[in-house]
Amino acid sequence: MRLLGTASDKKLFDENGLRLDGRSPGDLRPIRIETDVLNRADGSAFIEWGGNKIQVAVYGPREAYPRHMQDINQAFVRARYNMAAFSVDERKRPGPDRRSMEISKVISEALQAAVMVELFPRAQIDVFIEVLQADAGTRIAGLTASAVALAAAGVPMRDLVVGCTAGKVDGKVVLDLSKEEDNFGQADLPVAIMPKSGKVVLMQMDGDLSIDEFNEATSMIFKATERINQIQRDALKKNYANTAQDWGE
Ligand code: ADP
Repeated sequence: MRLLGTASDKKLFDENGLRLDGRSPGDLRPIRIETDVLNRADGSAFIEWGGNKIQVAVYGPREAYPRHMQDINQAFVRARYNMAAFSVDERKRPGPDRRSMEISKVISEALQAAVMVELFPRAQIDVFIEVLQADAGTRIAGLTASAVALAAAGVPMRDLVVGCTAGKVDGKVVLDLSKEEDNFGQADLPVAIMPKSGKVVLMQMDGDLSIDEFNEATSMIFKATERINQIQRDALKKNYANTAQDWGE
């Protein structure tokens, strides 16, 4: 969410070219993912990405309801992105709004591409994304955690989905915008891919980038997704190691 007319008022780099939180332009914020944190969900994941804290719960595949929504050829993935009232500095009015509906739609479409939906005709898979603390990049963090929660639920997938944002701040291309950079920068480019094929499943842009800046931003993002994908895989492996222990293996 960009705030207009304030870009030039705020210094977002120090005298050494570092960002306000001490990162270089190509650095990610710290990311931690944990799986199977909720007992009642079929799969779940919790992600901390910088100051973002997001809980994801997956239910299904189960018979789609209402029935007129059923597709005889495939399941549909229904993601619901919600920001808690206490997730931002000023209390957010609870309930859906245009922004959360848009984000739910783009996340649903990205996950639909990754899940083997053709295996589950007439079914739906629900993905609940609850943002407990928001600090910019929540759609990408929520989507990245959703892919892990779906895998933890045992939902067959072609691949995980992994994303990152880049943007332009004080005329410079930087990776993984912080909240201040998102608010006062000149552009924000969230992108998500399926890492094995490199297929892009989400791309949005707020603000303006030249073609060169766009190429620089996307190559930063693609490089970063390798590291984020490794964090996703490690979280899932840790989960399986714990399960094996439970079974006395
Ligand atoms: P994303 O979280 O995917 O970057 P936006 O660019 O729309 O999505 O939002 C950037 C950040 O702005 C959010 O992560 C959040 O910190 C803040 N924000 C979004 N909506 C609100 C709101 N209604 N009230 C206060 N802050 C908000």
